[in-house]
Amino acid sequence: MSSRGDGSRTALIVALLLVSLGATFLLAWQAQYAVSLHRAAAESVVRDYAALAADEFIRRSAAKVGYEGYYPLIGTLTRGLAATGDLGKSVPKSEELGQGDERLRAALPLANRYFTTLPGSEALSFEVAAPPIEVRSWLSEQLKRPRDENGPYTVLHGSVADEPVTVVVSEWTDASRRKRVAGFEVNLEALGAYLAPAIEERSLLPPSLGKGEVTNAAISVSLIDHRGVERFKSGPREFLDFRVEASFGDAYGGVLEGSRVRLSVDPAAAPRLVIGGLPPSRLPVLGGLLLLTAALVATAIREIRRERRLQRLRAEFVANVSHELRTPLAQIRMFAETLLLGRVRSEEESNRSLRIIDREVRRLSHLVENVLQFSRRERDAVALSSLRGEPAPLAPRVEETIEMFQPLVAETGTRIVARLDPEAEAAFDPDALRQVLLNLLDNAAKYGPRRQEILVGIESRNGATLLFVEDQGPGIPDAERERVFDRFYRLPREGASATAGTGIGLSVVRDLVTRHDGRTYVETASSGGSRFVVELPAPGSEDSRG
Ligand code: ADP
Repeated sequence: MSSRGDGSRTALIVALLLVSLGATFLLAWQAQYAVSLHRAAAESVVRDYAALAADEFIRRSAAKVGYEGYYPLIGTLTRGLAATGDLGKSVPKSEELGQGDERLRAALPLANRYFTTLPGSEALSFEVAAPPIEVRSWLSEQLKRPRDENGPYTVLHGSVADEPVTVVVSEWTDASRRKRVAGFEVNLEALGAYLAPAIEERSLLPPSLGKGEVTNAAISVSLIDHRGVERFKSGPREFLDFRVEASFGDAYGGVLEGSRVRLSVDPAAAPRLVIGGLPPSRLPVLGGLLLLTAALVATAIREIRRERRLQRLRAEFVANVSHELRTPLAQIRMFAETLLLGRVRSEEESNRSLRIIDREVRRLSHLVENVLQFSRRERDAVALSSLRGEPAPLAPRVEETIEMFQPLVAETGTRIVARLDPEAEAAFDPDALRQVLLNLLDNAAKYGPRRQEILVGIESRNGATLLFVEDQGPGIPDAERERVFDRFYRLPREGASATAGTGIGLSVVRDLVTRHDGRTYVETASSGGSRFVVELPAPGSEDSRG
């Protein structure tokens, strides 16, 4: 399969994932849109009910004020005047009222000052103290205007010195059969107390709504007069979600013309008013789902990219291994041919050829060892069996391996110095130990300069046995110190250099050491190069018994 094909397949999978993310987003948006439509519909129903309640408030308060308040008051006044012509005697008084006059008695606080026009003139006479001159002149002005005399009385609304004034007037006929005007100024302050019983006795909403369970406790209402002064208020507090305003207009002969009612319904009562209640917002759930999907898609894409990178690294690995195999094979073939064809001139030359063949064979078998070890590990990555040898001193085995390695670097003038604690012991499988050390030595030689000194050491420290290899090479940047142990990973600078490698050496080292319950890490050597450390539990320590 070509990597080009792989690339376009990856792009296709990523595109499909993104499309599914987009589709999820669209679905979530649709769902949210549907919920918001549903909610808007339910809210408008509640608002309609609020308007209904406001109309009921207008109807009830206008009827109460007009029919039960102004009408009996003005009636009593004009009838008295027509009979006696005396204002003082005609004004309804609490103490003169009988048992059947309860309505009138309740309405008394609504009237402030009674008045009538004087015989044969427009001048006004007041029952008690006359109001301020501004009120009197406003009233005279109003009385001069033509009035609609169809109803039992006329209500005049105005303002004097920025204060609202309401006056109720009507006509009466005096003894000399002349039309005269009488009336009273309304005590607006008393309006609230007067209206309260009528508003509070029954719910403002029709009982058929909400099974009659929505009482006035769920309704907040206030009456604002024609000058903006609040005259009546009931209910808990204003609910901004479901608020309506309505004006009284000329309802019931304009008794409260210019006044407005502001009414709002408690959202908590909405479930009882609208079937199914107000749909709750789905935003948190939808948002959560979207985030989850986005996270899943991101993870999937990351995994795909990681897989792709690994594939690429594997392909590079195969190329690198082939390259690493080719060089020693070419050498072996060349020197073997030289020997076979008897082209060597001296004993010394033939020995040199044999040494080179030996060296290259060692290098080859080391490489093959590494690849085998690596592929074994790749095959059963899950079942990493633990490796353990008999506890034994490390020094002799390390010396053996150094000896084995020496010929490989003989030509470069590299010196290998060993500083080995003969007492240090560890339970390390001998083959594994050799491979670990060979890999570290190979790297030290490969990445260090010619004619350098490589230090191999064994130490016992804090109940652990340390094996380390130091070189005089360029060292490893801090940020890369963990990654160099990853399979296939090579430092970026290797891309530019000609140093061959497969990127599996250190991962084999770490794998083998981990299987002995040990640790591997790299630090900066005192020489400035790298110092690769293998730390093994010493025999008899806590770790090794575990
Ligand atoms: P390889 O040597 O085949 O590339 P390794 O796994 O042995 O693979 O090493 C991984 C990378 O770590 C190397 O490519 C190199 O960049 C870096 N490295 C390893 N050992 C040394 C060292 N002693 N000095 C400097 N860099 C090193």
